[in-house]
Amino acid sequence: MYIYIHIPFCNCICSYCDFCKMLYNKKYINDYLDSLEKEIKSRYKGELIRSIYIGGGTPSSLSLNELERLFNIIKIFNIDNDYEFTIECNVDSLSIDMIKLFSKNKVNRVSLGVQSFNQDILKILNRNHTYEEVYKVINNLKNNNINNINIDLMYGVTNNIDIVKQDIDYFLNLDIPHISCYSLIIEDNTILSINNYKNIDEDIEYEMYKYIENKLTSKGYIHYEISNYAKEGYKSIHNINYWNNGYYYGFGLGSVSYIDDYRITNTRNINKYNKCLFISDKEYEDINIRMSNDMILGLRKIEGISISEFFDKYKKDIREVFSIDDLLKDNILIIDNDKMYINSKYIYLSNDILLRFLDIVN
Ligand code: SF4
Repeated sequence: MYIYIHIPFCNCICSYCDFCKMLYNKKYINDYLDSLEKEIKSRYKGELIRSIYIGGGTPSSLSLNELERLFNIIKIFNIDNDYEFTIECNVDSLSIDMIKLFSKNKVNRVSLGVQSFNQDILKILNRNHTYEEVYKVINNLKNNNINNINIDLMYGVTNNIDIVKQDIDYFLNLDIPHISCYSLIIEDNTILSINNYKNIDEDIEYEMYKYIENKLTSKGYIHYEISNYAKEGYKSIHNINYWNNGYYYGFGLGSVSYIDDYRITNTRNINKYNKCLFISDKEYEDINIRMSNDMILGLRKIEGISISEFFDKYKKDIREVFSIDDLLKDNILIIDNDKMYINSKYIYLSNDILLRFLDIVN
C-alpha cells in the first residue's frame, strides 16, 4: 500500500500555486497534527507500506519539534523492508538539523521545489533562492546519505529558451538522479491569473519541451513519464503507483484516497479538518471509470500499458474497450508485443489524446 500525507503550510505563497495550502500559522499546527493522527488511526488498517510521500504545501516549513511529532505519528505504519519515503522541501527552509532528523526517521528521498535558478523567473514565481543555496542543500543531503533527490523545474514562464537551457545545465551540475519538468499553467485564482499574466507562445513551449527531453536523455536520464526523468533505479515508486491507477491512502487536508474502488476526497477547510470532519466526498468508481482511469493514467508512462495486465484485471481486451483504430492507423498509438503506448512524437500532445479515453466503447 501507498501513503500520501498532506502538510498544507507554506512560508510564502508562489504566484502560480493552486494547491491546497495556507501561510504557516503556529496556532493551527498542533490541532492539525492532532487531527492528522486521529485520521490515520481511524482509517489505516495495518497494511504493509511500500511508499510514504509527505507533500504539501511545504512540509519543511514545520519546525523541528513539529516534524518530530509528525514522524512519531508515522511510526504507526508497518513499513516494508524495501520502501520509498519521500518528503517535499523548499530550499530556504531545509536546515542541516532537519536533514539529520529526516535521516533518523527513515526518509530516503527528498523532492525539492526549485522551479528555476534564474532570478528573474524566480521573481515572477515569487520564490527566493540562489543556485549556491540549492547546491549547498543538495550536498548536505548527500552527506547525510540521502542521495535519491528530485527537483521540480518549471519551463515556459517566459519566451526565453536560453533561460531554460541554462536551468537544465545548472540541474546537470547538481548530479542528482531525478527531475520533474512542468510547463507553467496559469490556473484560476492564482496571483498570476489575477495579474493577467499571459501564457507563452505554444511553439516555443514545445521547443523547450523537446530541448529538455533531448538534453536529459543524452545525459543518461530515462524519460519515463510525460514530465519525469530519472537515472536507472531512481524512478519514483510512489508516482508510478498513481499512474498504474493503484490504491493509496491520502491523509490530511484536501488529500485524496483511492481504496477498494472508492475515490475519497478530504475537506479543504482547515476548521472542519481540525474538528475531525475529514471527508467531503466519497464516490464509487464502476468498471468503466476504472478502465478509463487505467488508460488515461497508464498512457502518461512512456512505456505505456501492459495489455495482458489490463486483461487480467478486467477480463476484457483493451483494444476492444476503447476506440483506438484511428490512433493506431495514424501511428499516434503504438502496440508492440504486450505494450500499448503513445508514439514519442505525440507524447507532448498526450493530454488531448488521453481525453478521448473518457469514452468506453464496449
Ligand atoms: S507551490 Fe508549493 S511552496 Fe509554493 S505556495 Fe504552492 S504549495 Fe506552497
